[in-house]
Amino acid sequence: MKGADAAEMRQTPLESFPPVERWDDWVENDPAAWPKRKERRLMIVPTTCFNCEAACGLMAFVDKQSLEIVRLDGNPHHPGSRGKNCAKGPATLSQVYDPGRILYPLKRVGPRGSGRFERTTWDEVLDTFARRIRKALQEGRHNEVMYHVGRPGEDGFVTRVLQAWGIDGHNSHTNVCSSGARLGYAIWSGVDRPSPDHENAKFVLLLSAHLETGHYFNPHAQRIIEGKRRGAKVCVVDVRHSNTASKADFWFAPRPGTEAFLLLALASQLLENGWVNREFLKTWVNWREYLLAKRPDAPPGDFDAFLEDLRDRYSSYTPEAAAEECDVSAQMIRDTARAIAEAGDAVAAHVWRNAAAGNLGGWQVARCLQFLLTLAGAVGTEGGTNLNADNKFVPKPFLSPPPQRHWNELLYPLEYPLAFHELSYLLPHFLMDGRGKVDVYFTRVYNPVWTNPDGMMWE
Ligand code: SF4
Repeated sequence: MKGADAAEMRQTPLESFPPVERWDDWVENDPAAWPKRKERRLMIVPTTCFNCEAACGLMAFVDKQSLEIVRLDGNPHHPGSRGKNCAKGPATLSQVYDPGRILYPLKRVGPRGSGRFERTTWDEVLDTFARRIRKALQEGRHNEVMYHVGRPGEDGFVTRVLQAWGIDGHNSHTNVCSSGARLGYAIWSGVDRPSPDHENAKFVLLLSAHLETGHYFNPHAQRIIEGKRRGAKVCVVDVRHSNTASKADFWFAPRPGTEAFLLLALASQLLENGWVNREFLKTWVNWREYLLAKRPDAPPGDFDAFLEDLRDRYSSYTPEAAAEECDVSAQMIRDTARAIAEAGDAVAAHVWRNAAAGNLGGWQVARCLQFLLTLAGAVGTEGGTNLNADNKFVPKPFLSPPPQRHWNELLYPLEYPLAFHELSYLLPHFLMDGRGKVDVYFTRVYNPVWTNPDGMMWE
């Protein structure tokens, strides 16, 4: 890059970004011409990485003459990723120009599984699908049209389209992964996921470290590191010794399926030792109603009686009992509970898949985690665990179609009235059993054969 441009770069020991005023005309030396100094003129276009749901910000450096992207870099103005990306972000370039990428829509011309396809046009694809969808709707076969999504990333736009068609045709993979945790959170707060303030936390508690090593990897991970630099302690509950676990102050690898017990043992320690946040509980918990229902003998409005009852109720969840049940160290439970207490209301925690998804009743893990956070008063605080809806703005569309009048039992079978999301993993079984038919099925960022536990059923 030229000397003047280099001087204008925003620079820190580990990062350097062109100033926004120069994004339309950025001049730098072409590295391919090295050791000669050959200038090239670029424009910088902000974009988004879609290699995972974190959707970090990227800057595409585009050659002004050829209009080719020459590289991708982090966008320092993106509020989530703040210019930092994992390796997959800049590697998006190899997807854009991969010589083996699919360049045109393809149509299967041989038997299913034969791998024989021929090139077709977008017009043919759209006309074919539109014709079939239209025919299905005209013939009242609304439940035969289905959209199956992995990573939505479009804030409900497709849901509106499906509603406009009047079909109950939205399928997701959520019941394969996050539905359990979402249910636990929603029961507590009406919001199906937390937004932990890792950056300002004094204690970070991560169940299913998968989340911080995979899902919202980068935006969360960089804030966990920042919190840690400021002195936060990190606790990971995961049978795997993940990257996050390797950096943690406490690592529990409990017997799978016992995570809820472990959390209740931590909660019990807070209650036993009087480490609960009295003010928070008094203000935000329905303890008066609890007393009336559970301890009608206690004087109404006696907050200490409420705490006493709660303590007795969870007194069997001792560190020793947890050690026996979960196969973890009783002393580490005591130490962890003390560290949580010392963090006050700055405890940031998260559970998503893993323990909440892989076990019967896994939704209780999220509930027990919220219970622990509530005792600590670490809800909606700086450094605590916010409700996702509190700090996320999703603009509502000005027009929404009316709700559809159809109920698709292939997605929400009536024998599962409490299903929190579409029971997508049952779909191929239902089709095999003749419970319904799918005439038009289209997926987006989702491959059920690859993703679903019994994926081969989908073939
Ligand atoms: S974490 Fe990595 S893969 Fe995911 S959006 Fe960010 S840069 Fe892309």
